[in-house]
Amino acid sequence: MRAILPFIALILMAFGDGRIHAQAVGLEAAPMPASAKPSTGTESVNDPERVPVPVPEPSAKAIEFHRGNNLLWAVDEIWALIVPGFIAFSGLSARIRDFSRRLGRNRFFTIGIYVVLYLILVFLIDFPLSLYQGYYRLHAYGLSNQTFLKWLRNGLVSLGVAAIVGVCFTWVPYLLLEKSPRRWWLYTALLIVPFLFAAMLVMPIWIAPLFNDFGPMKNKSLEQSILALAEKANIQESRVFEVNKSVDTNAVNAYVTGFLSSKRIVLWDTLIAKLGEKELLCVMAHEMGHYVLGHVVRSILLSSIILLIGLFLVDRMGRLLIARFIHLLRFDRLSDVASVPLLMMLIQVNSLILSPAVLAYSRYQEHEADRYALDLTRANHSAGMAFAKLQKENLGVPRPSWFYRIFRATHPSIGDRIDFCNEYHPWINSQEVKSQGD
Ligand SMILES: [Zn+2]
Repeated sequence: MRAILPFIALILMAFGDGRIHAQAVGLEAAPMPASAKPSTGTESVNDPERVPVPVPEPSAKAIEFHRGNNLLWAVDEIWALIVPGFIAFSGLSARIRDFSRRLGRNRFFTIGIYVVLYLILVFLIDFPLSLYQGYYRLHAYGLSNQTFLKWLRNGLVSLGVAAIVGVCFTWVPYLLLEKSPRRWWLYTALLIVPFLFAAMLVMPIWIAPLFNDFGPMKNKSLEQSILALAEKANIQESRVFEVNKSVDTNAVNAYVTGFLSSKRIVLWDTLIAKLGEKELLCVMAHEMGHYVLGHVVRSILLSSIILLIGLFLVDRMGRLLIARFIHLLRFDRLSDVASVPLLMMLIQVNSLILSPAVLAYSRYQEHEADRYALDLTRANHSAGMAFAKLQKENLGVPRPSWFYRIFRATHPSIGDRIDFCNEYHPWINSQEVKSQGD
């Protein structure tokens, strides 16, 4: 579901930034031995956590998968321009608007009907590409366990959620476009901030459970260890949930979210299956780092600034295109709902231009969360091993190209992260100075 409405894309952007630990992490055919591979240099013999972890070489399959991903990324980016571009410039959008107007009569219903029809149309156009990328290819690489029906059901549920959100909220920017054609981009950006905060609260609690079961943790002693770690990180009174994601995917994820009574620590069962307890606790410490350091909130604030710039550019570009191609577009102003695909196309252009900045900030946050996790656990070896294992199972490449780093990487490369685990231990020196240690 590539080309959905702006704010949904933004929510996903905001959520894609900070929280997700290792996206598209999957299980490679050959399983890793459960016990960690011993590593080379052993200067500090006493503490097993001081043993450095070598950066694992990527397998041939991983390199092939990585190259294919880069190619598909380019295809997706161009696709997300072409599809709305075609719908807008072929006059199809104007026809959908005319139909929606006849059916809907008033402005609110016209916009609602248009949005639903547009989403269904894009869903159908995207379907073959989504099927290949989200289902067929992942199975071919052994990264997905999902049945076709579950995959399809999830796609339809996402479409349903997008339609409901679209019907409920699309009229707002269009009202602003009509009432304030010169400043709508400013007001829209300002209004989206509380919307994103609301979404941040709602997504993990109401939306995520639409796709999977959120149950209590099965391994009670592990649950106790996680809660003890949370206590150490000053996250009190949270509940731990285990999500049955193994039915869908081999990817792993974990996050800490919510506040007051909705505070929760969530782990996918795939993560529990793949990592040993100490490694898992390092991952959880990283996620707690995001929470304690307020990364999601900061991401939303940054997204809002990016959004403000982006919408301003969209406004200027949109006016130029309408003036130049009015005969093709068959609408004469942005406040006409037929402009949805034009806006989507321009948002895509601008998000491509602005994404290196957002990604650089995301990588900075990830690095800070890694640092936090090491400070909290001092388990350098376990953290490095967790990254090494995740890379193997994920078909990851430890040192991707500069192109990947700039345009795609939400996280520092696995190689850099393992290097950091091997190098970062400021507490050692301070211990040596104190000579007594603690
Ligand atoms: Zn993270």
